[in-house]
Amino acid sequence: MSTTRRPLIAGNWKMNGLRATAMPLAGELATKMNNASPATFEMLVCPPAILVESVVDIAAGSDLAVGGQDCHMNASGAHTGDVSAQMLKDIGCSHVIVGHSERRADHAESDEIVCAKAEVALSAGLIAIVCVGETEAERDKGITIDVVAAQIAGSVPDGANSENTVVAYEPVWAIGTGRTPTSEEVQEVHATMRKTLGDKFGVDEAEKTRLLYGGSVKPSNAVELMGLADVDGALVGGASLSHEDFWAIAESCPK
Ligand code: PEP
Repeated sequence: MSTTRRPLIAGNWKMNGLRATAMPLAGELATKMNNASPATFEMLVCPPAILVESVVDIAAGSDLAVGGQDCHMNASGAHTGDVSAQMLKDIGCSHVIVGHSERRADHAESDEIVCAKAEVALSAGLIAIVCVGETEAERDKGITIDVVAAQIAGSVPDGANSENTVVAYEPVWAIGTGRTPTSEEVQEVHATMRKTLGDKFGVDEAEKTRLLYGGSVKPSNAVELMGLADVDGALVGGASLSHEDFWAIAESCPK
């Protein structure tokens, strides 16, 4: 963790939560952010699309940021059931996740599609959280670094910079499994990610860009993971559904 990159702790609620559980969860986090103000980290929650507006209302006036879990690659049009980046912005979101491995797998999203989504997010004034990460088969083949570098090259748009884009490394095999790479493996991938960004955007910009780790982050492993030199926060799934666990993860960031 660098002293110049403010940690971002982002919660991906996925397709979880009804108003009865989501509103108290958001409310607890907004209150905690108010009490901690100014917190040494940024905190973001990404609820299911249908709950975003209510969570934005609850977070209003606090430093709790709200984001979408996905957006369409086009700005508007005939795309039944989809949500545009502009709509997320309009409703009060500051961020959007693009290229989560569940979207890449369930909706056949290629790097080109993810890149187009990130581009439209940036145009709408949102911060894009671009997800990359290898499958277990790719790790077993020893091609993790190549896969992640190629995903960054293909998914991070030319208009990205350290202000409008965050990159999240999420090994597919670590998501929701309770398994994580070793700290050395995470640091190696993150250092490569920074180098890949540096090759494209320049070393200064890469040094300022936040790189999140995601995949079975929990309070018990967060101190070690958040303490790594090139890890600047976390993208958290399961543990973000508990305000105690999510807050404990945030508090694990080096001060
Ligand atoms: C995720 O899906 O982004 C994620 C990191 O999930 P989990 O924390 O549950 O592994």
